[in-house]
Amino acid sequence: MQDMKLDGNAIGGLLREIFAMEMTTAVGTCAHCGAVNEVGRVAVYIHAPGTVVRCPDCEQVLMRVVRGKGRYWVDLTGVRCLELAEPEV
Ligand SMILES: [Zn+2]
Repeated sequence: MQDMKLDGNAIGGLLREIFAMEMTTAVGTCAHCGAVNEVGRVAVYIHAPGTVVRCPDCEQVLMRVVRGKGRYWVDLTGVRCLELAEPEV
């Protein structure tokens, strides 16, 4: 089965559930190549049961998210730094 490739906006809802913040405008630094990209611009591969997010520059894995049995597993090994805007009050 072919992976479904989408952009980072496809996981906006999923990340919002986990981080409770708007994540598509968050900026992540790739731990592999140092590229800095908005989460909305990364390459997202949805393949059950998990989601794999890849760097659009070097295609290394930035994050993996698996949801099941009422839990989330979030692997952020490929993100050196995640920069988020403070929510407006
Ligand atoms: Zn990269």
